[in-house]
Amino acid sequence: MKIIDGKKIAWDLRNGVKDKIKKEGLRLKLCVIRVGEDPASKIYIGMKRKACEEVGIDFLEVFLDEKEVVDNYVEKKICLVSKKIEELNLDKSVTGILVQLPIPRVLAKEKIFELIDPRKDVDCLTPINIGRMVLGYGRVSPCTAKGCIELIKSTGISIEGKNAVVVGRSEIVGKPAALLLLQENATVSICHSKTRNLAEYTKKADILVAAAGVPKLIKEDMVKKDATVIDVGINRLQDKLAGDVDFVKVKNKAAFVTPVPGGVGPMTVAELINNVYLLGKNY
Ligand code: NDP
Repeated sequence: MKIIDGKKIAWDLRNGVKDKIKKEGLRLKLCVIRVGEDPASKIYIGMKRKACEEVGIDFLEVFLDEKEVVDNYVEKKICLVSKKIEELNLDKSVTGILVQLPIPRVLAKEKIFELIDPRKDVDCLTPINIGRMVLGYGRVSPCTAKGCIELIKSTGISIEGKNAVVVGRSEIVGKPAALLLLQENATVSICHSKTRNLAEYTKKADILVAAAGVPKLIKEDMVKKDATVIDVGINRLQDKLAGDVDFVKVKNKAAFVTPVPGGVGPMTVAELINNVYLLGKNY
């Protein structure tokens, strides 16, 4: 068994982006919109800010008061988040826009994402960018899903022809991860909460991506010997983080496995930085 060092792989990717930005003399700027005081959002934005600053990308956080956003929407049908996106779309100095989730429930997040200029959509959430990814010619892919593929490739195993199973079908992780695996010529199964007998699928997986958000859902007896296991889950268990995989037991059976923390998480940030570069250099 080998533990995949997500921190190191993410670090290498970030350094590569840093070099390219410098060499190409690019001036890039990521703008993150935050609505309200969600503590996790503040932590995630802090990580993105730090990563941007390290590689030479300008960073701007736009804060909108949650009550003001909700009141304006409910009473006047004015969406302050949409207005801000439209403003940033027109700002030539801004090359990347990201709306940090969660946003208030009254706002339909899909409608908000649709407003982002696809040329600045660094999270790959707009229908145009998702569509291009599905058709196989996207410039960017959703960060976490792309990070999973890079972690698998880092092991040196070939994805082509392998049985890949993705547990989870969310728009931001499960579905794009499955699509990217398909584009790498894996034979892909997607499992979800309505899947009957999950283990029947996972046991056949040469590559297993767990993205369900259920702590320790994937047990040792659900994993094929010498599989490559990518654990996307971030679950809080009594002040500790736990993945979707029972890491302690599974690591004895798998050929490669990612830890939580230190696996997919750092790759998500690194892929975001890469997306800021990929879109910004062509803007
Ligand atoms: P969602 O809640 O949006 O999706 C979870 C998916 O898992 C759904 O498709 C759901 O099925 C499926 N699911 C839930 N329970 C089960 C089960 N018992 N068996 C099989 N499938 C199940 O979550 P996300 O995709 O946004 O995130 C998944 C996990 O990854 C979370 O822990 C999240 O915190 C983490 N995450 C980590 C990131 C990182 O950088 N490391 C980035 C993003 C997310 P159904 O569709 O039927 O409801």
